Amino acid sequence: MNEELLQIAKATKGFMPDDEGMALYNYALDMLSMSRSPMIEIGSYCGKSSVYLGAAAKEQRSVLFSIDHHRGSEENQLGWEHHDPELYDPTTEKLETLPLFRKTITLAKLDESVIAVIGNSKTVSRYWNIPISLLFIDGGHSLFEAMGDYLGWSQFIQRDGLLLIHDVFEDESQGGRAPYEVFVAATSSKSFKEIDTVGSLKVLKKL
Ligand code: SAH
Ligand code: MG
Repeated sequence: MNEELLQIAKATKGFMPDDEGMALYNYALDMLSMSRSPMIEIGSYCGKSSVYLGAAAKEQRSVLFSIDHHRGSEENQLGWEHHDPELYDPTTEKLETLPLFRKTITLAKLDESVIAVIGNSKTVSRYWNIPISLLFIDGGHSLFEAMGDYLGWSQFIQRDGLLLIHDVFEDESQGGRAPYEVFVAATSSKSFKEIDTVGSLKVLKKL
């Protein structure tokens, strides 16, 4: 991966370990060399994972639509475990990550490769109808949110396309179980086959 982009990804606030970020980049690059259909990311936050996926999109002349309402998940709100006071907007009493996301994408020169979609991921999915090459689920971590993203978006992944799920922990003490439940639903549906695991990132192929 381009060294400048890698340094930007590493310096960006967020929840994406370096090795899992590199896996996002490598799988996206590989996928897009076979199909240039757009990729979807759910959970932009400040753009950390978007830089890894966006770097691949730029190299392969495809695009990443990165969806987030930019108001943070439950665990990012005031008083919760993953709250960042620098991202708190006292006017709305919620998080505000859009300005930082935009700064990250522009600094990385990815404005033509990463398109911000601002809104609830499930609402957007109801109006979507384009086949996608890769879906990365890293949005809300409640069962309702995570399963809603899977049910709303996985139908658009084309054959041999990829489904990547972040924060998959079988053991509840390591994190919420919802992404794991999504992983189980996907593999038991017979529509997806697990092909790799990198940290908490699961990589599945659409059959
Ligand atoms: N991929 C990021 C981390 C994402 S954190 C990284 O690499 O650092 C999860 C994000 O999902 C938060 O920014 C939150 O605002 C967003 N989110 C949660 N529920 C959502 C929903 N229903 N629709 C859109 N975005 C949502
Ligand atoms: Mg995550």
